[in-house]
Amino acid sequence: MVQIISLANQKGGVGKTTTAINLGANLSDFGKKVLLIDADAQGNATSGVGIEKSHIQKDMYDVLVNEEPLKNVILKSSHKGLDVVPATIQLSGADVELTPQMARETRLKEALAKVSDQYDYILIDCPPSLGLITINAFTASNSILIPVQSEYYALEGLSQLLNTIRLVRKHFNPELKVEGVLLTMYDARTNLGKQVNEQVRKYFKDAVYKTVIPRNVRLSEAPSHGVPIGDYAPKSKGAIVYKELTKEVLAAHGK
Ligand code: ADP
Ligand code: MG
Repeated sequence: MVQIISLANQKGGVGKTTTAINLGANLSDFGKKVLLIDADAQGNATSGVGIEKSHIQKDMYDVLVNEEPLKNVILKSSHKGLDVVPATIQLSGADVELTPQMARETRLKEALAKVSDQYDYILIDCPPSLGLITINAFTASNSILIPVQSEYYALEGLSQLLNTIRLVRKHFNPELKVEGVLLTMYDARTNLGKQVNEQVRKYFKDAVYKTVIPRNVRLSEAPSHGVPIGDYAPKSKGAIVYKELTKEVLAAHGK
């Protein structure tokens, strides 16, 4: 059965997109069929897997607002075995346009139902907000992977995120789980990094992945080449840790 995982944290710049791209690419390297959904109007997941904006005819906006079937929107990424639903700046209008519409929270869930048998994993790269697009993602998902940046205010805002998860469970998706919490941009040389690591583990306990993603400049360079880290710098620390994370995710699903 397909596993649909949202990558979410309403804070920007915590590593959602980086994790979505690199987890997605690694899962496909392990033989899984993977669909990466870009649900952020910034389109970083889209460009990060080599999709040129000028080649996009339909995008996530059309799926949510115009109920465009996903089969007309899905593109092949630069990485073998990784498909993508692109986003463009057009998506920034979707929250407002969806507000007065019927079944607005379940649009993505309905769209995914028609393609989910073709995939083992579907990863949804959420925008930095808890609006209707994120609600659509949570309603469509089995679980949520929460990247947390190893910095001073790491835990700030997470109670709002957990509250949104509770609300979606109550109204739309009672089975929704927390897939895991991932520490990102970790710097082992600082006390702060260590403190945040301890704090997050104290709060989320076993939900926190053993794998911690360090700061790695290769990870920040890869997107400008339109490829995942494994295709850009396969021997880098960033490539190694994202492969480790992928093994943990696979193990959690017994495959
Ligand atoms: P989000 O999707 O949560 O906004 P991103 O994944 O886009 O976050 O990451 C924000 C920025 O930090 C991007 O420029 C990205 O390339 C960079 N980045 C992400 N993870 C790392 C890391 N582990 N080390 C160094 N740079 C990173
Ligand atoms: Mg992002």
